[in-house]
Amino acid sequence: MALRIQALHVGTLKDFPTAAITYHRGFGEVHDVAMIMFLITGGDHPVIVDTGTGSVEFTRQHHGYTLVRPPEQEPLAVLERAGVDPADVGTVINTHLHWDHCSNNDLFPNARIIVQRDELSYALDPLEPNLAAFERLPGLVPPWVRALDRITAVRGDVELAPGLSIVHLPGHTPGSQGVLVQGEERSYLLAGDCVDSHANWDGDAKLSHIPSGSFTNLHDYMDSFTKIEDLGCVVIPSHDFAVVETGEYV
Ligand SMILES: [Zn+2]
Repeated sequence: MALRIQALHVGTLKDFPTAAITYHRGFGEVHDVAMIMFLITGGDHPVIVDTGTGSVEFTRQHHGYTLVRPPEQEPLAVLERAGVDPADVGTVINTHLHWDHCSNNDLFPNARIIVQRDELSYALDPLEPNLAAFERLPGLVPPWVRALDRITAVRGDVELAPGLSIVHLPGHTPGSQGVLVQGEERSYLLAGDCVDSHANWDGDAKLSHIPSGSFTNLHDYMDSFTKIEDLGCVVIPSHDFAVVETGEYV
């Protein structure tokens, strides 16, 4: 049975620095960024890929950004509209452990949570420029720790279920991973922040694909782009409003 992906809109981060999304492009400019939680159905149980940010207040206080999240975009409301009981979600996959991808892992009490082992170790002891993104700050407990007992660490590429695989895509972070999903006629890659937006994947006159402005290893990052090309799939970015507008991929 083919799997189906739904892109669930769980907030908008206002005025995000453009150069933090597209490497060395748009210095001094800002734009709004979509927060997206993905739901995969059609298998044994619902699967969630990435769980979004904390609250509006928390985001302002600890990250200095304005998050717009009306009640209908609260994660629980979005799931209810999609007909999913969080208790029925059997698997949560974090593409990586940046705060805007794992802050609601604890909403899913019965899920095993799939994270790359390299990501777990880096999230515990990131380099100074990356401390805030992992919420590794004095007085804060990183959000993924709240569901630590349910985390399963994986290494590299792993098939989780028929038509559903993890693909290790280091570069943005050491343990960034994509999720390869077999749809009816084509396969899709939920690329995490290896590909933030269509503009990153489409490239420009100078680069075939544009990395994020945020990375831990640019060499690994470019190799991950090549790995994605070789998959021959449709690439779904992590923070692009066009993905929310498309809504579902089958
Ligand atoms: Zn990230």
